[in-house]
Amino acid sequence: MFGRDRIEYKTPEQVRVMRRAGLVVADALAAVRAEVRPGLTTADLDAVAADVIRSAGATPSFLGYHGFPATLCVSVNDEVVHGIPGPRVLEPGDVVSVDCGAIVDGWHGDSAMTVVLDAADPLDVALAETTERAMWAGIAALAGADRLGAVGEAVEDVVDSAAAAGANGGTRFGIVQEYVGHGIGSAMHQPPEVLNYRARDRGAKLKPGMCVAVEPMLVRGARDTRVLADDWTVVTTDGSRASHWEHSVAVLPTGVVVLTAHDGGAARLGELGVQVADLGS
Ligand code: MG
Ligand code: MG
Repeated sequence: MFGRDRIEYKTPEQVRVMRRAGLVVADALAAVRAEVRPGLTTADLDAVAADVIRSAGATPSFLGYHGFPATLCVSVNDEVVHGIPGPRVLEPGDVVSVDCGAIVDGWHGDSAMTVVLDAADPLDVALAETTERAMWAGIAALAGADRLGAVGEAVEDVVDSAAAAGANGGTRFGIVQEYVGHGIGSAMHQPPEVLNYRARDRGAKLKPGMCVAVEPMLVRGARDTRVLADDWTVVTTDGSRASHWEHSVAVLPTGVVVLTAHDGGAARLGELGVQVADLGS
């Protein structure tokens, strides 16, 4: 849907502003993680994030985006992405995916996490952990690759190894294909698309200044999705549970840095043998 020729390459100064937006998003998600529990509504989570973003002097990316009515997307259980916060009360064992975006001085950050509430089904925990691991593997792949297609290859490798280890009780986690990662910068969604699966076309060439959101979505059943009557909420067609993890990442001349992680991705990328690049000042 996006041409490769419209990629926005950022200057180091622009990436540093995006880092500020990324840290606001990281703070908002950390606050939600600290609060989320059974008995709260998804609207309660939205209020927590909205407060963090407004207190930082930033602007929510999602509120008003094509008419979206909230600060967060909160997607529970069989909801994959784009769930609208509201009166739904969270229950023990729920799989809660929280997606957040913020704007600082015109530049965006975008990140998502999945939290499995206490009394969890171990297979739901495996789903969320595998999705997070797939995201980090995709980000690590950006550090050494020549083409963006390395992300989808890394995600598929993690899903394959999880299947080999029996993580989903004998079946392979599904990889959602209708929704993919994207370029990010002066707009939340820009070219290029970042696929979460192997494709013959290995995608755009990786170049310094490219900033992308890496965001795999895995499901316990079939990968097919549909959109609910609210025109936003994406659910699995078979009702199986879903997980979504996302970080915004900058490609610099010296490597990658995760703009929406407090540590820039140092801990998780370090485990994968990737050193985080220096953003400068
Ligand atoms: Mg997002
Ligand atoms: Mg995104």
